Amino acid sequence: SDHNLTYPESPAAFDWAELYPAYAVQEEKENQDALSAGTKSVGKISKQVEVADIGCGFGGLLFALAPIMPDTLLLGMEIRSAVTEYVQTKAKALRSQHSETQAFQNVACLRANTMKFLPNFFNRSQLNKIFLCFPDPHFKARKHKARIVSTTLNSEYAYVLRPGGIIYTITDVEDLHNWMIEHLDAHPSFERVSEAEQEADECVAVMRQETEEGKKVTRNNGNKYVALFRRLDDPAWP
Ligand code: SAM
Repeated sequence: SDHNLTYPESPAAFDWAELYPAYAVQEEKENQDALSAGTKSVGKISKQVEVADIGCGFGGLLFALAPIMPDTLLLGMEIRSAVTEYVQTKAKALRSQHSETQAFQNVACLRANTMKFLPNFFNRSQLNKIFLCFPDPHFKARKHKARIVSTTLNSEYAYVLRPGGIIYTITDVEDLHNWMIEHLDAHPSFERVSEAEQEADECVAVMRQETEEGKKVTRNNGNKYVALFRRLDDPAWP
């Protein structure tokens, strides 16, 4: 249950500096104003999160991607609090192990129900990549509205993803794969990425090999179904 989850009123109201302390920026005037008003100034950072891993689990994908895209901020979003804490603790440990190179400062995790309030965390067109890796393991038992890919949620993904940005999906459940293709293809903001382009994308190999679920499926000799979708430009007003 997510009854004790809290959400920022807007992306600007969130304390991003707590998640990415190496990117914190001090805004002198704001701090002064907050001090005299008796409020807490919100921790701003020098760049925005551009990659979101929805239902990141133990963060295998994030920790593998972080060194590959060292100048991009990556965020895992996970509903289970103990799992979120595990990812946060691991990020801190990796940062201190790599303090000389500043590696892993670009990766963080927060607890959220991503089926709600995604636009409270991200501005319109902020994200470049969204990963949906092995979502909905109990796909068949779940009602349509409770699924990570649905007509409603796809519009939220379209809102936070910039034109040209990519949604990455992978699952071992063929029915779920077909469901995701059907619903993302039907959405006017998305088109499926060709197989050639998909296989040339280095994130796809990472997604197959470095996610915890991906490793489990490999051990069990299962299938992994991958599909990528590009966020299209919004049509021009007539
Ligand atoms: N992505 C990881 C991987 O590929 O190894 C974990 C996959 S696991 C099968 C699905 C994860 O999604 C779980 O960790 C679960 O807690 C999380 N999850 C499910 N519903 C969620 C929601 N509404 N918001 C955030 N996380 C969610």
